[in-house]
Amino acid sequence: MANFYDLKHYIAHYINKGRCLVSEKGKIITFSERVYDRRGNYSEPFNHFIDRLLESGEFFHLFVEGDHYAFADLIHAEYDLEYCVQCREPIPVPVAGALGPPACYLCPDIVPAQKTS
Ligand SMILES: [Zn+2]
Repeated sequence: MANFYDLKHYIAHYINKGRCLVSEKGKIITFSERVYDRRGNYSEPFNHFIDRLLESGEFFHLFVEGDHYAFADLIHAEYDLEYCVQCREPIPVPVAGALGPPACYLCPDIVPAQKTS
């Protein structure tokens, strides 16, 4: 992840889609308010939510529900934000050493059949 703003973008995206955050110990952290305001910026409640997690010291130990990377990995290690070829969601991808298509842990279990022909 290039920087904190990318990380926040990734978190916001998935919270907006209804996922929660999970701590290393399995504690679930939910956010039920609007993530974005009417202009598409982060809402104030969302900014406060992130700020509170940062202040608690908990933030970097959290994961997006279903993903395998703690935020500390994403911000410190060499990850980029790319898009999954299947679900087209932003996913963290190691910059170096990629030996195949990026692993996506966030693909929906049930992909809605939207193919029209
Ligand atoms: Zn995917």
